[in-house]
This record gives sequence, C-alpha cells and structure tokens, in this order.
Amino acid sequence: MGNEGGKSAAERLATPIQFVKGVGPQRAELLERMNLRTTSDLLFDFPRDYYDASQLKAIGEFVENEPVSVCGVVEEIDLRNTGPGRSWLGMLVRQEKEYLRAIWFNQPWMRDRAPVGARVLLSGAPRFNGGRWELVHPRVELLDDDQTAPSGQILPNYSLTEGIRQWQMRRIVQGVVAEYSECVNEVFPEQYRDAHNLLPIGEALREIHGPRGTDSLEQARRRFIYQELFVLQIALALRKRQLTERRSSPALPATAKIDARIRRLFPFELTPAQNQAVAEIAADMAKATPMNRLLQGDVGSGKTVVAEYAMLSAVAHGHQAAIMAPTEVLARQHARTLTEDLRESRVRIALLAGSLAAAERRETLERIASGDVDLVIGTHALLHDDIVPANLGLVVVDEQHKFGVRQRAALRGSGLDPHYLVMTATPIPRTISMTLFGDLDVSTLRESPPGRAMVHTYLGEDGRRAEWWEFFRKRLREGRQGYVIAPLVESGHDDGTASVQQAFEALANGELEAFRLDLIHGRMSSTEKEAAMNAFGHGETQVLVATSVVEVGINVPNATVMTIEGAERFGLAQLHQLRGRISRGSHPGYLCAFSEAKTEESRARLEAFCSSNDGFELAEIDFRLRGPGDLFSAQQHGLPSFRIADLVRDNEVLAEARNDARTLVTESPGLSHPDFARLRDMVVRRYGRSLDLADVG
Ligand code: ADP
Ligand code: MG
Repeated sequence: MGNEGGKSAAERLATPIQFVKGVGPQRAELLERMNLRTTSDLLFDFPRDYYDASQLKAIGEFVENEPVSVCGVVEEIDLRNTGPGRSWLGMLVRQEKEYLRAIWFNQPWMRDRAPVGARVLLSGAPRFNGGRWELVHPRVELLDDDQTAPSGQILPNYSLTEGIRQWQMRRIVQGVVAEYSECVNEVFPEQYRDAHNLLPIGEALREIHGPRGTDSLEQARRRFIYQELFVLQIALALRKRQLTERRSSPALPATAKIDARIRRLFPFELTPAQNQAVAEIAADMAKATPMNRLLQGDVGSGKTVVAEYAMLSAVAHGHQAAIMAPTEVLARQHARTLTEDLRESRVRIALLAGSLAAAERRETLERIASGDVDLVIGTHALLHDDIVPANLGLVVVDEQHKFGVRQRAALRGSGLDPHYLVMTATPIPRTISMTLFGDLDVSTLRESPPGRAMVHTYLGEDGRRAEWWEFFRKRLREGRQGYVIAPLVESGHDDGTASVQQAFEALANGELEAFRLDLIHGRMSSTEKEAAMNAFGHGETQVLVATSVVEVGINVPNATVMTIEGAERFGLAQLHQLRGRISRGSHPGYLCAFSEAKTEESRARLEAFCSSNDGFELAEIDFRLRGPGDLFSAQQHGLPSFRIADLVRDNEVLAEARNDARTLVTESPGLSHPDFARLRDMVVRRYGRSLDLADVG
C-alpha cells in the first residue's frame, strides 16, 4: 500500500484531479463539471456501460448460446404491443450480406438506443430461430461512423462532458486505477466477503474499470451494487432499532375480552386478510416498544376497519388514539364512520378540522390535553399543532397515496412514545417497500371484502364517444350515479385538454343536459367541497364532474359509472384509485378512459389499467414501465439515488442485502464490533442525516 512521499492513503485519495497524469488544470476544470474533483471521485465514477469487443464474431461463426459480439447496421425496427405493459421490439441488423435480429421484451425504450442506419455493436447469446439468428436482450453500443470495433477487449464507457473524448477518459481512469486503487479502504471484513462472495475492493475497482472478462466484470459490479444496497439496508435496520427497541411505549395487549368487544361493533366478520393484519398489529401493540407498521391495501380493502380495531384496543386500555387523514374531507369521513360504529359505546370522539372556529378549536385542544377525548381525528396538520394529548397510545396516519413518511409522527404524547401505524392505499412494489419503508413492518390486505362489485374498464375511442355517453345516461336513468374526471388545467397553459370547468359546462349543455350535475375541484374551499360531496352522497346530484380530488374521500356506493378524460395524464396508481370510487357497492361498475396517449409508455400504462383490477399487479407494472423515479420523487419521498444499483434490475441483490443487513444488526447491535467500524462510518456519512440516525451505537 502506498505511503509514498509520506502521504497517507486518505490523503492520496484526496489528491486533486489536476495532478493526475494526463489531466492538468484545463481538463480538471472540465471534469469538475461532472463533480469529479479527486482521485477517489474518479475511482468511483463507474462506467455507464461497456463496449464488449471480446467476442467479436461474424454471423456465420455463431454457435447456439455462445456469447458473441457482432457489428452491423440497423436496417429495420419493429415495435409491437403484446399486452398490458408488454411489448416486443425487434431490430433487424445487417452484417454485409447476412442478417440477425435483436429482440427486447417489455423494453420499448430500447427502440431509441439506435436509429435505423446506425452502426451498432451488439453483445449477447445467440439462438437460431425461424431460420435466423436472434439475440435476446443484447447490449447495444452505438459506434461512431469511423470507429472500427476493437477486438479482444471489454472497454468501459464513461459519462463524458464536452471537451473530453471517451478514449481520453479511459486513459485517465486507467492511470488512476493503477496508482490509487490500493489506497481505498475495504469496508467488509475478509470473513464477511468470503461468506457473501464479494470481491475485495481493490480488485473490484480494477475489474470494473478494466474488465478481464464478462464473468469477472459481473462479479465486480455485483460487489458495488451489493455494497450500495447493503449500506442503505444497514441504515434502515439501525433506524428501525432506534425507533423500536430503544424506545418505550405502553404495552396494549388485545385480550380476548377486548377483542370480542371491538368485533361486536362491526356489522360484518373480518376477512382472513383483515384478521391477519389485526393479529400482527395486536402482537406489536402488546409490546412495550413502539409499533412501526405499514398497512397497505387497495382502496376498499378494509384498512380503515383494521385501524379502527387498533385504535379501540388503545382506548380499551385507557389510552388515546389519533388518526390523521390527508384531507379534511377524509378526516370528516373517518369521523362519520367512527361515530356511526361507536354510537353504542362510551368512546369520546373529537374532530380537529382546520375549519373549526377559533373558540371551538381551543376547547377541543383543551379536552384532548386533559384526556377528556379518547379518539382524535384530524388532518396531517395535527402534526403542526402544539397539541399535547394527555395519554396518547397510538397514532394512525392515513397516507392514502402520499408517501411523506419521513416526516412522520412528531406527534408525541406527554409520556411514552405512541405506537405508530401508517396506511397506504397505493400498493407499493415490493422493491420500493423494502427500500423506502425498510424500517417499517408491513401488513398487506390483498383481498377485498366479499360482495365488492367488479369494475369493467374500457379504453375510450373518440369515434365511439356518443355510444359511451348513451350508456352512461342509461345507468343514470336506472338510478345510479356517476363521475366525470377531467384534469385541472391552468388557464394559459391550455394544451387542448378540456379543463374540469370546461368539461362541466360542455356536459351540462350537451350529453348530460337532462341530469343534475355538480362540480368539484381542489381549488374550492373545503366548505364548498364538503357541500358538493354531501349533495352527491345524498343523491341530490347525479353526476360529479371532478378533478382527481375524488380519488380520496368519496364513498358513494350508488355511483357506478365513470368517464375519465385526459387519462394519459394520470399515473397508474392514480387511475386505479379513481376506479376504486365506483366499486363501493354491489352494482357492477363501468369506466371508460379517454386519452390522447402519445407515447408507448402511456399507451402501455392505459392498457394495463384496462386489463387488470389488481392494484398490486398494476403497481409492479407501473414500476417496470416507469422505474422508481417517476413514481416516487426522491426528494419528496426520501428514496435515495444510487450510483450503480438499479431497483428494477437488482431486486434480488436488494432482497439479499436486506436479509444480511438485518442479520448483522441483530448479531452486532449498533454495528459496534471494530470489524465493522468502517461500514458504520460509511452508513452514518451517507444516511445519518436523512434517516435521523442520531444516536447510532
Ligand atoms: P379502505 O380504508 O381500505 O379503503 P374501508 O375500511 O373503508 O376500506 O372499507 C371499505 C368498505 O368495506 C367500508 O364500507 C367497510 O364498511 C366495508 N368493509 C370493510 N371490511 C369489511 C368486511 N370484512 N366485510 C364486509 N364489508 C367490509
Ligand atoms: Mg379508507
């Protein structure tokens, strides 16, 4: 290991890039634009992909299933939809007089990797099919016109900035790797590396920047992917420990007597899925450490009932429980449901809504502080109130489709920590729940209560609008109610999509002239919204023309038809939420989604929506189609950005890293063993702040 010139390894890794061979002040400035400042930055600037010329072959030399690289010209590109979220992409490539076909399933974006006429280098394992060689999911490299494919090597491709060529970058990094890779400290003890099949750091760095072969390259990449995900999972495991084992909460066991008393309040039996969730929650709440649990389930899957169970078991022990809803409308709805269910009991309920008059509000706060209230219902604004409940045992956060979990439960009682339950109606892809909610335990309601109507979903065709509206009117004449959803378009940003206001006026004077219509959108005051919802709920209005605000909060079983305009503007999760509004009763629902979908991805999304009613399946499809970035904006939801890991591609490594991290944190609480000191430092440096790992150790 280098100690040359009296410098420590750490100092050498901090060497400014300008002193690296082949860089100098000018290039250093260019590199700095990509945030590359030190030798260490260069070592960890992993190639974005590779130019695999190690197996360069002519088509005539192919052998079934033996990896090849092949150069050719793109002759034809063919993209077909093969089902919801599914597609087939074929790229016909010519090499002199011979042809092969590259194929990608469900990766429509690969079409844009190489245009017709481009010279490409493809790498993959060929198979002979229907008289032609095929490469399924090959790697694709675009070749410059004058670039001949080098043979016998796998060359790294780095992200570049103007003024630096790929070959120059390769040379610079090669120099740095040769001179500095041994200075990098290993984070994993040798024994751990052996047990988990991880290359030593120096070797992995050399390999990832200058692969000797595809297998060893994969090994090197796996090490860094694992490390990145493992560090996150360690952070989450530490946070979980911090939120649970190291804190105290009241132990609130659901005794047989309490259990029976609560169940008697419901006019139905709990479903097996609800019973399972209730059992998981009861087991958590019986402990003297706080519960930290996520309850996920589709709209209408019966989450509220499960939360009610949890709240009532806190109340049965003389503790208070609070539930926070994302909107005031929803808070009021929870208040109605709870008041209704509890009308025979002595449980005291208070609604803390933003629209309360000042005096009433003050009085309510006082009752909460003095313990004269058992159940507090409010919006997330409860968090910002200086409210000190007398004896808070449980906080339920109804997130619906928002994921602001990081800013969770600052709501504390005066004594012990409350138990904590967060509900989400957006089924979360497994990968995401392991990442974003890795510090929570998860209960899932996958099946809905019996008797729930099925919703028939159609993709609207412009030529058949009249037919759909005829159908819509027919349902209304039968006594059903309906929704029309339109995007809220800001005036001045009109791009041809009708705003909700325009849609309302057009319908009131056109297709739905004969019916009682009302309008609701997020810009209205909560009193106005409440009035519109009430009128609809009582059947005074027949059709509600709305923005996606109805997504949450409305429960009108008699509403069974829905038109969605501008459907391409909504995410899959949102569309599915909207659909949930017309599956509340026993009559079958009918939904028609009109769209101006222009991209492949939005078309695939809408087709998936029409062909599946399963929120979990849709969540996975959305995740595959759009990746995590679109679903969960990182800043807002705390999903970390990764240097090399990819949550869609690396889900198996993620699961492995998660198990390993949990095991390690259990075996070595706080990661206190000196062997893991470096790992611990790295975790704290990376996530200490964002995950509030205040007192690790
Ligand atoms: P979510 O909160 O998941 O959207 P809710 O708890 O509001 O779902 O339940 C939706 C509807 O289903 C409510 O009207 C509720 O009364 C009813 N429900 C819940 N659980 C059951 C059950 N086990 N059997 C029958 N109906 C149920
Ligand atoms: Mg609910």
